[in-house]
Amino acid sequence: MNTENVDVLIIGAGPSGCVSAAYLHKKGLSVLVVEKSKFPRFVIGESLLPKSMEHFKEVGLFDCLDAMNFEKKRGARFIRGEEVCLFDFSKKYTEGWDWTWQAPRADFDKALADEIVRKGVPIAFEWAVTDIEFDGTNSKTTIKNESGEEKIINAKHVIDSSGYGRVLPRLLDLDKPSTLPKHSSIFTHVIDTNRPEGTEGTLITFDIVKPQVWLWVIPFSNGKTSLGIVGPTEFIESYKGNTSEMFSEMLKLSTHYYDRFKDVDFEFDPICIKNYSKSVTQLYGDGYVLTGNSSEFLDPVFSSGVAFATESSLLAAKLVERQLKGESVDWENEYTNYIKKGVNVFSTYVKEWYTENLQTLFFHRPENPDVKEKICAVLAGYVWDETNPFVKKHDRAVSSMAHLIDMEKNLP
Ligand code: FAD
Repeated sequence: MNTENVDVLIIGAGPSGCVSAAYLHKKGLSVLVVEKSKFPRFVIGESLLPKSMEHFKEVGLFDCLDAMNFEKKRGARFIRGEEVCLFDFSKKYTEGWDWTWQAPRADFDKALADEIVRKGVPIAFEWAVTDIEFDGTNSKTTIKNESGEEKIINAKHVIDSSGYGRVLPRLLDLDKPSTLPKHSSIFTHVIDTNRPEGTEGTLITFDIVKPQVWLWVIPFSNGKTSLGIVGPTEFIESYKGNTSEMFSEMLKLSTHYYDRFKDVDFEFDPICIKNYSKSVTQLYGDGYVLTGNSSEFLDPVFSSGVAFATESSLLAAKLVERQLKGESVDWENEYTNYIKKGVNVFSTYVKEWYTENLQTLFFHRPENPDVKEKICAVLAGYVWDETNPFVKKHDRAVSSMAHLIDMEKNLP
């Protein structure tokens, strides 16, 4: 059988895989990326966070994205009926990027993949990882294409960036149920023919249409807009018919957006992903590390998926490089504990979104600018800045503040 030897095998050419690949290639290691599909391919996850801009810059993937003229995202709006809360990333507690993009991922991911190929990283498109065997940290991975042809890749380390493919969690039995409640989503793209002029037309918005249920509106610079409904799985399943019928019916829940979207054509039949939250028993093992969505996915509400994907893959790449240079790496502390810190902060915010404590803070008037800028830093992805009390004391900060607001409201 055809065999290839590389320093690092990366599974998946999404943002996570491309960031790892760009870093390791720059450091002179031999890298092969194996990607099951042919690009461009559809994937959901179109609203980014400013934090991820640091990663693209560091590995030389910023310019190729900037050249695509994606819509700039400078904050986010949350609405609930007549109530509005607008976050502006330039008014956040932690220093850092104050903008990012909202972009169709097919184009975004293709720009990334094209750029790493241009830099000299080989991507084996339309080859899927089907099996892996470890001998210490060395591994032998079987990859297969659509015609059934197989190859063996010998690698000194494997980075699993396979997203929802969850290749190593499946092959090594690492899946673990998420602690978040079961939520599902249904989404599509539309040609936004009724898009209003100005910021109303391009602003990314999360519209709370019912307790626990919200609509995302992510306008792109190409005139299309991504629409998605998220809610408890039983809510999504309570709608009948095909996904287009279900989605059209759900859109009626939004008083703010219904007129804009009631007559638009769906670009594709809405896709439904049920029970999207995922977790794993471990993030690394001898000779492998999991990054991005193949490790953990929480919830789309704060658009943290890609930022986690790139934060984890850049860190994983740095640790793999050190290990292959012969340095010792404390994977538990340097990788798992670090990544878990950020995951835990976002996990609290997701939980507090669905308890509605966070919404109590968002929509309380008058606004508290000090609290707002600290929460804004979290929403921009700066969840490792422990000088921010809304990061360091995440498990109490939001609930205590919401409790105070509720008490104040109930004062005679
Ligand atoms: P991916 O982008 O999924 O890339 C993984 C790649 O691996 C794919 O190209 C796949 O083809 C390939 N692959 C899979 N299996 C194999 C195999 N066997 N062999 C070889 N290759 C393989 N995130 C955000 O940041 N913003 C959002 O607004 C957002 N919205 C979301 C909405 C919903 C409903 C959901 C469910 C998720 C959302 N996310 C969002 C999360 C986002 O989709 C992911 O976090 C992000 O795509 C992760 O990037 P990745 O590089 O880890 O994986």
